[in-house]
Amino acid sequence: MQPPLTLKISEIFFSAEGEGGRQGQPTIFVRLSGCNLRCDFCDTSYAWDEGRELRLETILSIIVGFKNKYNANWVSITGGEPLLQDIKPLVEKLRRAGFKIQIETNGTKPITFEVNWLTVSPKPPDFYTTTSCRQQATEVKLVVTKKLRLADVEKVRKDFPARVLLWLQPQSNEAWGYRRAWHLFQQAARTGLKNIRLGCQLHKIYDLR
Ligand code: SF4
Repeated sequence: MQPPLTLKISEIFFSAEGEGGRQGQPTIFVRLSGCNLRCDFCDTSYAWDEGRELRLETILSIIVGFKNKYNANWVSITGGEPLLQDIKPLVEKLRRAGFKIQIETNGTKPITFEVNWLTVSPKPPDFYTTTSCRQQATEVKLVVTKKLRLADVEKVRKDFPARVLLWLQPQSNEAWGYRRAWHLFQQAARTGLKNIRLGCQLHKIYDLR
């Protein structure tokens, strides 16, 4: 007999989507444990190792509990890096149950199934992403660190189809983060880069999870 399907989960919670084109929408978050990168600006490093194995049925029933409480039908599967684990069976189950699925990935692993919204956030130093992530991306998010340069923005802009919005997302809610993002935004505009958007992290402004 096959063992029951499980995923290593850091947390499941309800909140408002904090970033990008879905900002402000009611969303149930499923944060998977584990990441193949170790970004020094990571704000979810607690998910690198910690977590517990949960059966898919358990995960689904927690999600349905939040749906019943908050009338939310978007599920954002994030991490850590969610594409390190086999999340396809969970995505299929959720879609059959009527949920819309967003995945937020660093883009370093291939994606082999379709979702409603794919957020790809390439990471330094090389901003590498797989072909399938680039082809399926709904939006791209670049974390504006103190080290991010216009050349990095130009590289990532070239890597993705022109139709895909590229968000400049301040790493920090402190004044320097907004100043730096605004500076890069102006530089990108002057250089003629298309579909660049200035972003912020709603959950940090509202002090949400
Ligand atoms: S890819 Fe994301 S989760 Fe992984 S270390 Fe970098 S910021 Fe953290």
